[in-house]
Amino acid sequence: MTRITLRDGDWPDPPASPEAAPFVEAAREGRFLLRRCTACGKAHWYPRALCPFCLGETAWEEASGNGTIYSFTVLTREDPVRTVAYVTLAEGPTMLTSLVECDAQALAIGQPVRLVFARSRNGTPVPCFRPADPSASPRS
Ligand SMILES: [Zn+2]
Repeated sequence: MTRITLRDGDWPDPPASPEAAPFVEAAREGRFLLRRCTACGKAHWYPRALCPFCLGETAWEEASGNGTIYSFTVLTREDPVRTVAYVTLAEGPTMLTSLVECDAQALAIGQPVRLVFARSRNGTPVPCFRPADPSASPRS
């Protein structure tokens, strides 16, 4: 079993930008924000001022933090071992992220996951995902 833990400081600092400031502020309070188009209604990741689908205006909204693993790889030659994954959010967008707090051999495509914030070296929240608590959201 290869246990992958959530270690603060393992992530490089995201570049600071005025556009990302509301996301970072909310994340510091444990809230995960997405942007959704006010014209076509689609959510997207990463957050953009203009909709990537129709170029309409977009607005922040709080996301559920629920998703499923779309694809992943375990970087076994890294020390510590870590993952790179695409997670499809309940709101629709698929995002590049890392899976943490998990057993690398027990990960599976389609597995329900839940958002957890790790901290970069300077303390900026970085959105990661861990397997969803089976008692909280049972698999069908
Ligand atoms: Zn749109």
